Amino acid sequence: MPELPEVETLRNALIPLVQNKTLVDLKFLRADLRFPIPRQKLKKEMTGLPVYDVTRTGKYLLLHNDRGAMLLHLGMSGRVTQRASLQPEEKHTHAIFHFAPDTFLHFIDPRRFGCILWVPKNEGHPLLDHLGPDPFSEEATAELFKERARTCKGPIKGFLMNATRIAGIGNIYACEALFEAGIHPMKSAGKLSKPQWQKLLSEVRKVLRKSIDAGGTTLRDFFNADGNPGYFAIDLAVYGREGEPCLRCKTPITRTVHTARSTFFCKTCQKR
Ligand SMILES: [Zn+2]
Repeated sequence: MPELPEVETLRNALIPLVQNKTLVDLKFLRADLRFPIPRQKLKKEMTGLPVYDVTRTGKYLLLHNDRGAMLLHLGMSGRVTQRASLQPEEKHTHAIFHFAPDTFLHFIDPRRFGCILWVPKNEGHPLLDHLGPDPFSEEATAELFKERARTCKGPIKGFLMNATRIAGIGNIYACEALFEAGIHPMKSAGKLSKPQWQKLLSEVRKVLRKSIDAGGTTLRDFFNADGNPGYFAIDLAVYGREGEPCLRCKTPITRTVHTARSTFFCKTCQKR
């Protein structure tokens, strides 16, 4: 599943291709993905105008023009590839964007959990309105999260993976950041001290940044036919290492399963 680092990498790849380029044409090959695609609206509002910026919040990408923005989400299996024309070249191509003069971006999504939507200028969107701050945004501070988690009795790992609390942190990154911060995944989110929040946010950014940097060399994953966007290969300290020795203290790594999600942690290094 494309995670925040893959989406950030896609953003970095799209900027030179679309920034200040006019969207000449859009072609939709189906009417809906996870939600109906507002095809007429997008054609009307997006074509003929240059895209001035591509921004990301959590795992959502926004291609902005003077009237608003096209909102993209890759869902479980989505990707964007660059091709030579408006002709679809592979199965599950659902939308094609033609930017002047000759950039053709194909949106491919076999499982169709992704979305392509329209956000009018200065208006919110239900999908974005309930999102917590992006971990790299200035808004994402220890003070804010300590305050918001104050009455939260649930585990910190659930808090981290709840997009309405903080946007775009997947299971792997939550496990890794909690290990690096020395915090037990089941610790009550409301019990974290301010220094713990500071450490945790710093580790979240570090692990995401490491993955974004690793993705810098694998841009082609988004731009060729057999790209397989999973998480970028980084060295993982706990995730997927059940029973293997902790890199710090040699205690075997523990795995627990909760709501069909695996949590990996070191019961010695990570404190409740
Ligand atoms: Zn340990």
